[in-house]
Amino acid sequence: MPTHDSGPHDRTGTDPIEESRPKDFIRDIVAEDLRTGKHTSVVTRFPPEPNGYLHIGHAKSISLNFGIPKEFGGECHLRFDDTNPSKEEQEYVDSIMEDVRWLGWDWGTHLYYASDYFGQLHDWAVHLIRTGLAYVCDLNADQVREYRGTLTHPGKPSPFRDRTVEENLDLFARMKAGEYPDGSRTLRAKIDMAHPNLNMRDPVLYRVLRATHHRTGDAWCIYPMYDYAHGQSDAIEGITHSVCTLEFEDHRPLYEWFIEHLPVPHKPRQLEFARLNITYTALSKRKLLELVQKGYVAGWDDPRMPTLAGIRRRGYTPEAIRTFCEKIGVAKANSVVDLAFLEQCLRDDLNKRAPRRMGVLRPLKVVLENYPEGQVEEMDLVNNPEDPAAGTRKVPFSKVLYVEQDDFMEEPPKKFFRLAPGREVRLRGAYFITCTGVDKNERGEITELRCTVDLNTRGGSATDGRSPKATLHWVSAAHAVNAEVRLYDRLFTKANPEDYPEGQDYKANLNPQSLVTLAGAKLEPSLVSAQPGLIVQFERLGYFCADRDSTPGRPVFNRAVTLKDTWAKVQAKDKAESGKGAGSR
Ligand code: ATP
Ligand code: MG
Repeated sequence: MPTHDSGPHDRTGTDPIEESRPKDFIRDIVAEDLRTGKHTSVVTRFPPEPNGYLHIGHAKSISLNFGIPKEFGGECHLRFDDTNPSKEEQEYVDSIMEDVRWLGWDWGTHLYYASDYFGQLHDWAVHLIRTGLAYVCDLNADQVREYRGTLTHPGKPSPFRDRTVEENLDLFARMKAGEYPDGSRTLRAKIDMAHPNLNMRDPVLYRVLRATHHRTGDAWCIYPMYDYAHGQSDAIEGITHSVCTLEFEDHRPLYEWFIEHLPVPHKPRQLEFARLNITYTALSKRKLLELVQKGYVAGWDDPRMPTLAGIRRRGYTPEAIRTFCEKIGVAKANSVVDLAFLEQCLRDDLNKRAPRRMGVLRPLKVVLENYPEGQVEEMDLVNNPEDPAAGTRKVPFSKVLYVEQDDFMEEPPKKFFRLAPGREVRLRGAYFITCTGVDKNERGEITELRCTVDLNTRGGSATDGRSPKATLHWVSAAHAVNAEVRLYDRLFTKANPEDYPEGQDYKANLNPQSLVTLAGAKLEPSLVSAQPGLIVQFERLGYFCADRDSTPGRPVFNRAVTLKDTWAKVQAKDKAESGKGAGSR
């Protein structure tokens, strides 16, 4: 587990950390700044706005911001960028802290809130007014937009741009005192209305907004804008490298303008990297909030959500997510990562660690006609073939069993090697059985299979060396635990959820099959009181995580990921049909 690391490493000679650390352009800049002595240790921050739950995209930013000081020596601050009280809530603050910790990171004593700086930010705004670099503007939001101009046309100066310092000081004080209605006046920086970068055309610093803040309550009725608050918060905290996503590249001149014109104690540097995008996934808090609020999913921690709370509930591990973040790396160009790659990181992790268990999702009864009535044998099953230390467990075997409906075909096609009339298969860790008959109800549906068991094959091998082509998982009917199993699949049917028909939106691409609930699954008895969060491999089916909806005697399991990438086939087929890459946007 990564931990907060405060001491600088020895950076001389062949430092093993230097050798093994991830390489990317941000780490190169940090290394250079330490080498030249520009900084003696690195200070980064992860700055979420508490207006939603963290998602897997944030994990990339967390991995970078916490990873760098761990590798180079220094610290990472967790700072809540809470400058917009109308959308922010304590619930989000709590969930964000929980998720960062769950990923294995620790901010130590460095927990901050932009709202703690409201006083300082206000004083610096007054400083800008005093130095003639800010003014109170009476234009409303629409007018401000209209005056701003476009990429091809310069803006027009606000008619209030040339107010005197005294008048501005008075008006700003009265804004703060609550004399003006919401949205009626703003404080704006006085930069350049013809600047080629629109962010530099007298950006708004403060707006009047009567909203109760989750921390400062009703103490303020003016709130700083993000661009003004963010860099100055970095400067107050002594952040050395302020790492953010590419959409802030155009805001960098403004970031630097504030730093240059204010008496700040430190001069942080903003660096931008490409945000994470994943196929079949929406990573925008606005959309995720809409899915929650309109009931398309069951909540922020619905296992189909790309939120850390959602994928944790689904069965993702912090190790798998950290490996994923390391492997995708950090670059300057936007790209889209295949969801299959995230899934593979989870499989690779769980393959090593998850105990194997038997569970039958869609049960088909099998009666072993030559097996003694009432007899129960305890079979030794291997817990994890990848990990001999995991040992074995006892699983009861008896005359009546369940196997998977999919593992039987009455008229098997050529390549179907599993159970069929007259066919012999192996039951994992138990015996070879041969199907001798099929019972049906009056509608012609199969109700049970009749089989014989070869009692000379105990443990799953024959002395004559014969070996059936298929090995099936099974559960003893008399001992089976009834369970609900939720089969989750990707939330969107399209690699790019933004590729929707005209007149619709991304919700048109929601996958109606993203959740299939099986109420009648049968599990081996060791799972009767599975604790929520327990992750196992159901043999031959995938990795499953016990859900918090489990009740004593009736576990509920979520499918985290199948054993193989079944979508690779679907995608290949799509690709062949459409003639263009289904996995690329
Ligand atoms: P929205 O989705 O509404 O644009 P946001 O995801 O940017 O919001 P923040 O709370 O501002 O929300 O994000 C905190 C930090 O995480 C920011 O520094 C942001 O750049 C980074 N971040 C957000 N999304 C991603 C992503 N997909 N990939 C990498 N970093 C991200
Ligand atoms: Mg943001």
